[in-house]
Amino acid sequence: MEAFEYNAAPARVIFGSGTLSKLSAEVARLNVSAPLLLSTPQQVDQATHLKTLLDGKVAGIFTEATMHTPSHITEKALEYAKSVKADAVISIGGGSTIGLGKAISIRTGLPHICIPTTYAGSEMTPILGETQDGKKTTRSDPKILPGTVIYDVDLTMTLPASMSATSGVNAIAHAVEALYARNTNPIISLLALEGTQALASSLPDIVASPSSVPARQKALYGAWLCGTCLGAVGMSLHHKLCHTLGGSFNMPHAETHTIILPHALAYNAPQIPEVMAKLAAVLPGSDGDAIKGLNILLERLQVKRGLKDFGFKEEDVDKAAEIAVSNPYWNPRAVEKEPLRELLRRAWAGEPAR
Ligand code: NAD
Repeated sequence: MEAFEYNAAPARVIFGSGTLSKLSAEVARLNVSAPLLLSTPQQVDQATHLKTLLDGKVAGIFTEATMHTPSHITEKALEYAKSVKADAVISIGGGSTIGLGKAISIRTGLPHICIPTTYAGSEMTPILGETQDGKKTTRSDPKILPGTVIYDVDLTMTLPASMSATSGVNAIAHAVEALYARNTNPIISLLALEGTQALASSLPDIVASPSSVPARQKALYGAWLCGTCLGAVGMSLHHKLCHTLGGSFNMPHAETHTIILPHALAYNAPQIPEVMAKLAAVLPGSDGDAIKGLNILLERLQVKRGLKDFGFKEEDVDKAAEIAVSNPYWNPRAVEKEPLRELLRRAWAGEPAR
């Protein structure tokens, strides 16, 4: 075994069905009395439900969380938090709402309780991506990591099948890149493989039967593990490409991850034979070929496979390849513009990865 370093991030996780009932105990544990509740406009009902669970003892509800954590929304939320004298933030939702919770918490020092309702994994990372004037910047700071995470499977039952599928593949992408990260380690690899297996085996059941409780439990468990991977080790080509496509071309987050993953993995495959074998072992139907296993999974999930399906234009392939090679970063295989352009062209067209 090769030498390695392992840094465990502090995590207090409450996992299960019906775990929201433990929220008031968590609030008491933190010794706070005026939490600010955060949600998107689409999840107002869930935020209002939290207020009921806390017997109305909240500072207020801010329901304007939106994709990519734009700074003008953060400023508005900060002003509101100050005006109502909030002493904590509770975010209920996906990565967008959790991002707002992180943005407030890092600026004010307020404790942050996260209640995730998608599989994106932001709750387990010390990473915050924010946008200002259309430019997305990302920073990492241990203080960004939420102090408490309550996973309640019941809240994921309303996540539509198509979003469950793409959000779940977004989570698998964290695990895949963690397996070949430069600073990967055996502990994170265990989590990555367990998380991938849990999601790959449960997502097709969710698509077939969105109200399946065992499948939802398994998927959320997998998402937690994959989120831990994202927070623990460095990401490479796949995440950088998705960051470029989201940040510079406004492509939707989870759907873009879903399209790019088989292509990014195929690009890196020649340099990572051991990882490919380990992944194949946890992807049903792979016959020892991880790309085949991933393709089978994506077919069963009935997801869209082409960037063009989301409005990405063929003439932007070049520009995206240019941006993706402009900031050098570590990747198992050298990141070169020509093969990258071909990768993006195939992803644009929805052609199979190779
Ligand atoms: P999202 O938070 O944008 O949610 C998408 C939509 O689904 C929203 O309208 C939301 O209200 C709704 N929704 C969420 N859960 C639902 C549920 N259970 N039932 C019904 N509707 C529900 O989507 P996301 O994919 O979770 O997050 C994407 C954002 O998170 C991106 O901005 C991405 O950059 C960020 N992100 C950050 C990290 C990190 O570590 N910093 C990790 C992953 C994602």
